[in-house]
Amino acid sequence: MPDLAARLGFTRAEITAECLRLERAEPTLIVVTKNHSVALVEELFDLGERNFGENRVQEALPKFEEFNQSGNRSEANWHLIGQLQTNKVRQALEFASTIHSLDRESLLHELSKRTVDRDSAIDVFIQINLTNDPSRGGVEINELLRFAEQVKLAKNLRLQGIMAVASLEHSPERDFEIVAKLSEKLQANHPEANGLSIGMSGDFIQALGYGATHLRIGTAITGNRQI
Ligand SMILES: *Cc1c(COP(=O)(O)O)cnc(C)c1O
Repeated sequence: MPDLAARLGFTRAEITAECLRLERAEPTLIVVTKNHSVALVEELFDLGERNFGENRVQEALPKFEEFNQSGNRSEANWHLIGQLQTNKVRQALEFASTIHSLDRESLLHELSKRTVDRDSAIDVFIQINLTNDPSRGGVEINELLRFAEQVKLAKNLRLQGIMAVASLEHSPERDFEIVAKLSEKLQANHPEANGLSIGMSGDFIQALGYGATHLRIGTAITGNRQI
């Protein structure tokens, strides 16, 4: 698929140009491969991509397993970016090295329980809710610091920072500014939690201006979703 290589190259070039303009370090680019085939993930891997984002465990786990059947794919990192049900945590831990959607106490409890005996920690971002709609998922802004203290108590969860999806109720700049300020507050207590997982196909340029460390980009690279 020559289009895929072109879109990936173009997106990477846009990111690099904006980072140069802002005199900032390049973020981690996570290519969101949800609703796409394993073949697309393989092609991205061959093009040098090492970070893949998926939003549903039942889709991601078989994809991950099939992907790993052909050759040494241990360099690939799989990121779970969608809402995670507690009864899917065990399966999520089979493929995800980073969970971006830690958004509530019941999930934290289940994740801590299922990771406590592991040899290695997994990376988590606390997802915050920027909308007025509690069903959208995410920790309320004024609950973040308290929730972060609880996350820090879990032995094998490494708090990376904050994840957010711009709300569409406002400009992305307004939302990202809120997130950037929250991130400063979080880092005052936890300097290591300096990650910011913000920025998707429609707003990644803006997100770079507010300190995004992880971009989650789907359609701009993969084209329209297929399955
Ligand atoms: C699908 C998805 C993305 C990628 O969205 P695009 O607009 O296709 O770039 C990013 N983050 C989350 C949480 C998603 O579910």
